[in-house]
Amino acid sequence: MKVIEKYNDSLHNPYWKFQLGPEAYEVKDTPLRVEAIKKALRADQRFQFITADPFPERLISRLHPYHDYIRKTGLSLQNDKEEFYPDLFPGEGAHLRKKVDNPLWGGIWCTDAVTPIMRKTYEVARASAETALTGAALLREGREKAVYALCRPSGHHAGPRVFGGYCYFNNVATAAEYLLPEGRVAIVDIDYHHGNGTQEFFDEIKSVFTASIHGDPDNEYPYFWGYAEEIGKGQAEGTNHNEPLPKGTQLAQYSEAVDRILDMIRGFDAAYLIISAGFDTHEADPIGGFKLRTEEYTAIGKQFRSLGIPTLICQEGGYNIDVLGACVKNFLLGFMD
Ligand SMILES: [Zn+2]
Repeated sequence: MKVIEKYNDSLHNPYWKFQLGPEAYEVKDTPLRVEAIKKALRADQRFQFITADPFPERLISRLHPYHDYIRKTGLSLQNDKEEFYPDLFPGEGAHLRKKVDNPLWGGIWCTDAVTPIMRKTYEVARASAETALTGAALLREGREKAVYALCRPSGHHAGPRVFGGYCYFNNVATAAEYLLPEGRVAIVDIDYHHGNGTQEFFDEIKSVFTASIHGDPDNEYPYFWGYAEEIGKGQAEGTNHNEPLPKGTQLAQYSEAVDRILDMIRGFDAAYLIISAGFDTHEADPIGGFKLRTEEYTAIGKQFRSLGIPTLICQEGGYNIDVLGACVKNFLLGFMD
């Protein structure tokens, strides 16, 4: 299987810790995650690495209205180590002007204060989207049946209005838009956290089916999205499906949720499948709550493969770097003989 890697991952390397009550949090999206995945896949000759191609900026900017805000804020920083955190959120009723030239206006464009902008964040996030686009192009040209895009930063919390949750540009949404002229697209998000950005992108678009299996938002990030009653809007009603599952979910219950989604995709007649592949569903993940085991990801990969349609697998979360590489590899092996 082709593995698409990007060329500048280490340039976005935030270092920040904060205290919430008795608990100390730190930004867990480090470049070490990518290194762990590369190490696991490079050791196996069934994976061939290729470098992401450049794509026109407009493929990304037209989908993300905060594109210039991220770019300009990064340019305003003094050095590569500085991190800027939006910390002023206007709330409802505020007089919004949507300027992009003042970093302090970030609360208009961002959901939280844990997604820092660094000097190179724009470049790195753009390359992450280009990694997904490179995979989409391989499928669109009919050159591959299944490809893996090693994206970082993740994208699934970045939406058509705002970014956040360690995400800047939505990689799978960008890839889906690229594939749509060729046929209907199904996106399934298997990260532990609901793919709220992806859902919002296609909430009213009936040619894209979106689904997500995730920790119940009653007690997990992103809290305000991901409930079962969110089924798509207007003409797109019925084209979104959420599977919020309880803490402690194990493989049997998880696989049933996957099967329900696969049945819906078969009815939807998708030409392409995109998987937002997060591995914070692992039992040892520091911020997840499910109980999936390293070897079980192969079976989940096989389930998706049974659809038999061209598939782009994009990396999202997964924060235990001791097991992340093996989880990714096992999932991808499920797509191979
Ligand atoms: Zn996650």
